[in-house]
Amino acid sequence: MSHYRIKCRKCSTVLDDAFCAFCEHCRDSLLVTEYRDGFAVEKGVSGVWRYNWLPVHSPGFYQPGPVVYRSRGLAGALGLDDLYIAFNGYWPEQGAEMTTCTFKEFEAAVVLENARSNTIEGMVVASAGNTARAFAHLSTVTGFPVIIVVPQMCLFEMWYLEASLSIPTIALEDGDYSDAIDLAKRMALAQGYPFEGGVKNIAKRDGLGIVLLETVERVGKLPDRYFQAVGSGTGAIAVWEMSERFLRDGRYGRKHPVLHLAQNLPFAPMVKAWDMRSRTLFQEDLRPELIEQITTRVISTRYPAYSVQGGVFDALTATDGRMYGIENDDVYAAVELFEKTEGIDIVLAAGVAVAALQEAVKEGHVDRKDTILLNITGGGEKRLRQEIKTHRVKPVFLSKAVTDAELEELLCSILKNVS
Ligand SMILES: [Zn+2]
Repeated sequence: MSHYRIKCRKCSTVLDDAFCAFCEHCRDSLLVTEYRDGFAVEKGVSGVWRYNWLPVHSPGFYQPGPVVYRSRGLAGALGLDDLYIAFNGYWPEQGAEMTTCTFKEFEAAVVLENARSNTIEGMVVASAGNTARAFAHLSTVTGFPVIIVVPQMCLFEMWYLEASLSIPTIALEDGDYSDAIDLAKRMALAQGYPFEGGVKNIAKRDGLGIVLLETVERVGKLPDRYFQAVGSGTGAIAVWEMSERFLRDGRYGRKHPVLHLAQNLPFAPMVKAWDMRSRTLFQEDLRPELIEQITTRVISTRYPAYSVQGGVFDALTATDGRMYGIENDDVYAAVELFEKTEGIDIVLAAGVAVAALQEAVKEGHVDRKDTILLNITGGGEKRLRQEIKTHRVKPVFLSKAVTDAELEELLCSILKNVS
């Protein structure tokens, strides 16, 4: 018997065979994983596979987790008594050994392992940057075939580890992240691989929820508040879902961590919608030209998982959460403050979360005694480059005008080269 089952959040139907699907009865609702047992950590197992709340069976590779530690530097600067930092990235002095420098590594590890145990043979992934690097890396580690699609506009800030350079990567010349998702879906159909499914994939969300598993193991209870920068919102939904499991377990607290989520202005569609308590995003906030004005294109999707049943709107509602819109200048300042006070570089998107925490302190949205978890979703890139060389991605370029026949031919040739 499996240690988990998958259930529709809306109609409670249990699905046996549900690799990244919506419920067939209610297509607007996310499926969630229900684990049979309470939270448990397997002794003697290192890395993330020691947790029982992951939808995998017998992973055959090592996957490092985040490092959760109690902050002194940043906590002191902000006047907070009980600030924990979940550091996702490379910082060997603290025990952080993720060479992709992004929390998307857990997502990739759990998604690929879950797909393998569902007898899936390969996968197409769309990404605005970090997810691409994470999946390319895990494809190398596990040998599981992956094809990656990225928008060309994100290429200049993208990098791969050396071993990942052979992973087939397509750059979409004429479109943004959302168009890359559309192209990835077409390629998935043509190849007979599933599309990784984005927020719909339960393995993706449960993988991102590892941050909360690690925190509860370290701290012994749920935090009062949780800070993260959001693009699609998948990571925040994941943390909310994990906290629901902890509340059901009953041993780690009786209240959800309040979600404090942030986006980079002027592209911050969820900020305004939430401020107005609207379940629907406003079209004028989703204009592509707004994306060109932000520093953090990795959090720039025009299709966030906001309105869907079980999405960001519901997560904010359930936790009485708050959204922050952060200006570019404040992002840079926050990145600097973090490096100065904690002693490690972080990515700009993580700076958005730090700036949100600063604003929350200033505006009195948090109490100094609160147990706060700050998710540093990526960091240590500079630190990593002191040791190893990172590489520019060398993709195959495609236009969205590509025909299905051309697409099939291309897939045939790139997959031949790989095998
Ligand atoms: Zn349903």
